[in-house]
Amino acid sequence: MPTVSLSPEVTAKYEVVIGLEVHVQLLTTTKAFCGCANHYGSAPNTNVCPVCLGLPGALPVLNRQAVEFASLTGLALNCKIRERSVFARKNYFYPDSPKGYQISQFDKPIAEHGWIDLLDTPTSDGSPKRIGVTRAHMEEDAGKSIHDGFADSATRTYVDLNRCGTPLVEIVSEPDMRTPDEAYEYLTRLKEILLFAGVSDCNMEEGSLRCDANVSIMPRGAKQFGTKVEVKNVNSFRYVRAALEYEIERQIEIVEAGGIIKQETRLWSQPEGRTFSMRSKEQAHDYRYFPEPDLPPLVVSEEWLAEIASTMPELPEARRKRMIAEYELAEQDAQTLTATREFADQFEEVARTAKSPRRVANLLLSELGGRLKAAGIELEHSPVSLRGIVQAADLMEEGKISSKQLKQLFDICFEKSEDFPTVYEREKPQQISDAGAIEALIDQVIEANPAQVAQYRGGKKTVAAFFVGQVMRASKGQANPALLNELVTKKLDG
Ligand code: ADP
Ligand code: MG
Ligand code: ZN
Repeated sequence: MPTVSLSPEVTAKYEVVIGLEVHVQLLTTTKAFCGCANHYGSAPNTNVCPVCLGLPGALPVLNRQAVEFASLTGLALNCKIRERSVFARKNYFYPDSPKGYQISQFDKPIAEHGWIDLLDTPTSDGSPKRIGVTRAHMEEDAGKSIHDGFADSATRTYVDLNRCGTPLVEIVSEPDMRTPDEAYEYLTRLKEILLFAGVSDCNMEEGSLRCDANVSIMPRGAKQFGTKVEVKNVNSFRYVRAALEYEIERQIEIVEAGGIIKQETRLWSQPEGRTFSMRSKEQAHDYRYFPEPDLPPLVVSEEWLAEIASTMPELPEARRKRMIAEYELAEQDAQTLTATREFADQFEEVARTAKSPRRVANLLLSELGGRLKAAGIELEHSPVSLRGIVQAADLMEEGKISSKQLKQLFDICFEKSEDFPTVYEREKPQQISDAGAIEALIDQVIEANPAQVAQYRGGKKTVAAFFVGQVMRASKGQANPALLNELVTKKLDG
């Protein structure tokens, strides 16, 4: 971590400006410009052909599904989709890019002028802070250089070109973020939207989502942004936040010492907890962009766009709003239930079969959630399945088990690693020991027998036995007798 810790007084003199560039791999079956499989984890250099190897004379053919996913991405980020966008060559030489250029989009990207709302970052009027999305453009990925891949040949570098030509969308934000936390939330929201839209698996470990963070500082209140530094390829959202925190301190220290910030690209070292220079502005590439001569302009007609838009799944924010209304959930609970689209789907599928979907949600979040957390178990490894929860919720809804019994049954599920139906079938609770449940029955019986109540209160205490018998019958013989006796006397005396 930075050696010097800046005082809050010093930090307060500066305003931070952050803009993010995020690359996402699209979940297409094949690559962007050829028929090779877009598949992570194949044996090196097996998903390749003359087009993605950049062999002379091979010509690119644009993948329709990539266009559809890129358009969906743009729409999900509230962008305008350009009817006629243009592919451009971005020229640079790198060993994992055999063509010597990357097909990208330059001045006419497919999507522009969108936004992402930071729901956890309210503005002064209470509405969420809105971060502009400058553009989302299509491009192809490069291959991968593998350094020190094997212990016995640590000085070698290998190249795997399977990733060459994988379709990407690069999403560029406006410099609208002011804190590392806002950057973290932006990334979290973006990932959630992309996952719900179904355009990418956003798996950061496999490189399906990669982030470059741009950050500068300026004196608080200044109009002109400071010189930005780009921190490249940070491979987790938490590291992005840490890298930004470090970088802000580094820049403030330099300025405080009378220095100036150099425009440069830096890399984050997680083990060292610092950024270090990768290249300065002077060493920056000159990409010599020009329109890609091998591809015509891409035209997404109004009709096609409407067709694409009609395939848009329900996005996270809309889904949370609907689920809050449908299941009477708290905001935070809706957030938990929509943690992933798959989980939200699974929940809704079973909840709809339950007598009270709301009770299913509550059991899931409180009884199950609490136990999973305590045991350190991920939801997907929960001993109690969603169907088990539905059964438990229905039993409670029908008054067949008390909340206390439910807790006991859940405890057994966790102890024995068994699902609820199994445990319920075996344990079938024979006794109602829940005071609330028994009192409810007593109240019913008292209400139905005013004459006997009057007798009891007139001094004929033996009538208590009549009430005990009635309630026991109502509980199908499952009320705890000691508790029942005690409660009946209490109620009649009360
Ligand atoms: P470049 O041409 O150097 O790539 P761009 O204008 O395309 O720069 O911006 C790249 C990213 O950097 C965008 O996300 C943008 O919001 C962000 N950015 C631009 N200027 C600044 C700045 N002064 N401070 C922080 N971020 C910035
Ligand atoms: Mg840029
Ligand atoms: Zn290919």
